[in-house]
Amino acid sequence: MNFKNVHIYVADSLRWDYLPDTISELGVTFKTVAQSNFSAPSFATLGTGLYPVQHQVHNWGDVLAPDTPTIFELDGLHTGYRDHAEGTEATVFRILKQDEAVDLSDLKPPFLHVERNSYPHVPFGKNAPDTVQEYYNDRGNDWQQMRRDYKCGIKQSVNRFQKRLDYLEDSGLLEDTLIVFTSDHGELFGEYGTKGHGSPTCPELVYVPTVFINPQLQEEDFQINPQSEIIEHVDLVQTMLSSIGYGNALTTSGVDLFSRDRMRDWGYNHINIVRKGRKFYTAESAWDYNGGHVFAQNKTFYRFIYAISQFRDAPARENLVANPTKLIRYYIKNTELFGSPTHSESKSKENIDTFTDQLSREEGYAHGLSENEKERLKNLGYLT
Ligand SMILES: [Zn+2]
Repeated sequence: MNFKNVHIYVADSLRWDYLPDTISELGVTFKTVAQSNFSAPSFATLGTGLYPVQHQVHNWGDVLAPDTPTIFELDGLHTGYRDHAEGTEATVFRILKQDEAVDLSDLKPPFLHVERNSYPHVPFGKNAPDTVQEYYNDRGNDWQQMRRDYKCGIKQSVNRFQKRLDYLEDSGLLEDTLIVFTSDHGELFGEYGTKGHGSPTCPELVYVPTVFINPQLQEEDFQINPQSEIIEHVDLVQTMLSSIGYGNALTTSGVDLFSRDRMRDWGYNHINIVRKGRKFYTAESAWDYNGGHVFAQNKTFYRFIYAISQFRDAPARENLVANPTKLIRYYIKNTELFGSPTHSESKSKENIDTFTDQLSREEGYAHGLSENEKERLKNLGYLT
């Protein structure tokens, strides 16, 4: 498939099972294995086409190495990034090495534009309370209310996306543009006794939707079957680059889904939550369409501490205290099975080890966070 332009719209925190039919029906929808469980590592992947163990952005304070190329640095292409997230937008700009916000309408063809919209992220939507903390204080003990608010945030995000489609159509750009609607990770509403995202690794956080949209595009144009096979964020990046003639301009770890079958029938997710130099939750996992195996990697003691730290978290405290064993159990187990994946636990572990041994590694490094950023991230419930 050949297009001139790409617009990627990332609805932050939209999990797979909450994708509205109105979006799915616009194009070809793939169940997607997010490369990580929160915005920082997943956006670094969307910006590079590399896995977190390659680009090395694992936490909010990490940045890409200066010589790690991104999709925004391609010769002959007008590129830009727009972010509507409150509190983390400056940090994601830094991760992606972007200086200023660029609207879709600012770019002339050929263009590549990425937009992050955080309405599905806590506190859910544009009329919500100011901070995540305020939201949880207000509603954090009512999972049903939170799900309703989440749906409301998704609806607002979809409305904004619709405006982008309208703009492309009104400007005569729709035919020449591949539009990709996706998300960076999912969200929890009491499953495993907790909320939000980041950890523990589970299907609700790992599976996100990707919808490829263009009037000419059909399911048959893809080499993989959306009804039974997964794709990964890295494939999304390679596919959109190839479709605008930049398939060889960047070395990604994904495949062009229009021309090549995926080499593996599973996808790889990795999370490494570090606080003050200590690994509090590190896990890797392998997922196919029907489920996956999770392998915790850091010391059980620190995972236990991390689980306990969530009890201190005032917002959803009552819910957590009501269900303490559930939460702790998921954190301290070294392996966990979800659903009914094709491969056994031992085969999955072997697959992951063989696969990650072959991956190239970039030299990422910790940039550190300013006091201001720390405060904002705390307000979003990221730093405990
Ligand atoms: Zn996010």
